[in-house]
Amino acid sequence: MDVRAQIVMAFHLDKCIGCHTCSLACKNIWSDRRGTEYMWWNNVETRPGVGYPKRWEDQERFRGGWKIDGKKVTLKSMPKGRTLANLFFQPNLPRIEDYYEPFDFDYGNLAGAPEGNDQPVAGALSQVSGEPIEQIKGSANWDDDLGGSTLYAEWDPNLPNRELVQKFDTIFMQYLPRICNHCLHPSCVASCPSRALYKRGEDGVVLVDQNTCRGWRFCVSACPYKKVYFNWKSGKAEKCIFCYPRVETGQVNACAQSCVGRIRFVGVVLYDADLVEAALLKKDAELVEAMRGLIMDPHDPQVQQSAARNGVSMQWLDAAKNSPIYALVKKFRVALPLHPEFRTLPMTWYIPSLAPVLSVLGDTHRLLDQGIIPKVENLRVPVQYLARLLAGGNGAVVEEVMQKLLALRTFMRGENLGKPADPEVLSRAGLDREAALQLYRLFTTAGFNERNVIPPQQREDQAPELRRKEAGFGILTRVKSERTDLTQRGGKDD
Ligand code: SF4
Ligand code: SF4
Repeated sequence: MDVRAQIVMAFHLDKCIGCHTCSLACKNIWSDRRGTEYMWWNNVETRPGVGYPKRWEDQERFRGGWKIDGKKVTLKSMPKGRTLANLFFQPNLPRIEDYYEPFDFDYGNLAGAPEGNDQPVAGALSQVSGEPIEQIKGSANWDDDLGGSTLYAEWDPNLPNRELVQKFDTIFMQYLPRICNHCLHPSCVASCPSRALYKRGEDGVVLVDQNTCRGWRFCVSACPYKKVYFNWKSGKAEKCIFCYPRVETGQVNACAQSCVGRIRFVGVVLYDADLVEAALLKKDAELVEAMRGLIMDPHDPQVQQSAARNGVSMQWLDAAKNSPIYALVKKFRVALPLHPEFRTLPMTWYIPSLAPVLSVLGDTHRLLDQGIIPKVENLRVPVQYLARLLAGGNGAVVEEVMQKLLALRTFMRGENLGKPADPEVLSRAGLDREAALQLYRLFTTAGFNERNVIPPQQREDQAPELRRKEAGFGILTRVKSERTDLTQRGGKDD
C-alpha cells in the first residue's frame, strides 16, 4: 500500500445554471495577459454541443490520452521513437479555428469617432494582430445555450443517436463546466521532453514550470481534455493551476468560490498508488469501478499509517475524513469521472444531471405523487449519452447513479410534503434514510465549509521523502517542491 493525497473538485451538473461566473473569476485572476486571451482554464460548455476547443473529445483527430498496447499503456500522440521526428511539427495540435481568434471591441470609437451621419460603433479588433475583424466567427462558448439546435448538437461526439437531434421537442440540454482534471496519470506530464510539467507530491496539482518549458507543445497534443494552452506571447505552455496559492492557504479555488449555483465541491482523497497500474489496464467499461477502487477509506488505520509514512499530515488526514469528495465518489457512489477511457485517471468528478425529469410517461411530479418513479431509460437525458461522457460507455454505471438521484428526489419530496415515501424507494437504489439525508444536505443546505474542506499546506513540515516521491504512476510523473519554480505567471504583462 502506497497511500498519497490528492486534492479534487466535484461538480453537481443539475445545479449548474451556465452563468460562466466561474470562467470569468478564473480569467480575471489568471489569464488576463497578452498571449492568454483565448485561454479558458475554466470553461462551461453547453451539451450536446461542440465544446472548447471544438470537438476536443474526438481523439481520432487529436490523438490525446493513452491507449493500451499489449500489457502497457502508451501515449496515443507519441509512440516511442517519434519524439524527435515530431519535435518541430505536431500534426495533432488544435488550430486557431478550433479555438477562435480572440477579439476585443474598439470602444474608443464610440466617443472618439469623427462627426458623421452614422451612429459610431465599436468594431471588433483581433487581440493577436490588432487588425479589425470583419466578422466574428467563433468564441469559447459560441454554441452557448444552443444544445437544442441541430446545428451544434449533431457535432457532439457523445451523441449516440443522431436522429435525436432532429426531434427538437425531446432533446435535452445541460451544462458541463471543466477545469484541468489534475489527473493521477497525466499524459501532459508524460509527454513533455523538457520535463517542465510535473505533479506535486503533496496535493497532486499538475503544474508547468515556466523556467523549464521550451514551448514544444507536446503537452497540448497529449492532453485529451485540451486543458494545456500555448501562450503565443511567452512561447510557453500554461494551464489551470488549481488556484494553488489560494489552496495552500486554506482558501477555495476562485471558480468554486464564485460559483453561483453552488455546484462545486472541493476536498481531499487518499489513493493507493500501488493500484494505479492495474487500474489503467482495465477495459473502458470497467474503469469507473477501478477508479473508485483507487480511493481509500480515510478512517482505515492501515490507510492512515501508509499515508503518514508518505508524509501526509494530520490536517490532511482529518480533511480526507470530512471530504465531500470521498462521500460523493466512494461512500454514496454518485459522482463519475469525465471520459475515464482516456486513461489519464482524471480527478474531477461529476454528478450527472437528471433534469429535465419529464419522462415519456408524463409529468414527473404527478408520477411521483402517484408513487410511480420514472424509469431511467425514460428520462430525456439518454443514458448512453451520459455513459459515453462519464462512464467509458458503461450504461449500467450511469443507471445506478440515476436510480439513486431519482430515489433521493422521490424520498425527499415525500418528506417535505409530509407524505413519506415507501422506504423501499431508497433501498432499491442502494440508499437508506441516513444516506439520503446526508446526500440531500450536501446537495442543498450544506454550508461553504461542508462543500469545501481544504486543509492548509504545511510544506515545511512535510517529510523530505514525500517531496522526492513521485505522485501518480511510476516514472511517468514528476514532483518538484521548489516553491519559487511553481509560478506560471513568469511571463510579463504588456
Ligand atoms: S492530462 Fe490531465 S492533468 Fe494534464 S492538462 Fe490534461 S486534464 Fe490536466
Ligand atoms: S459559476 Fe457555477 S453555476 Fe455558474 S456556470 Fe460556473 S459552475 Fe455553473
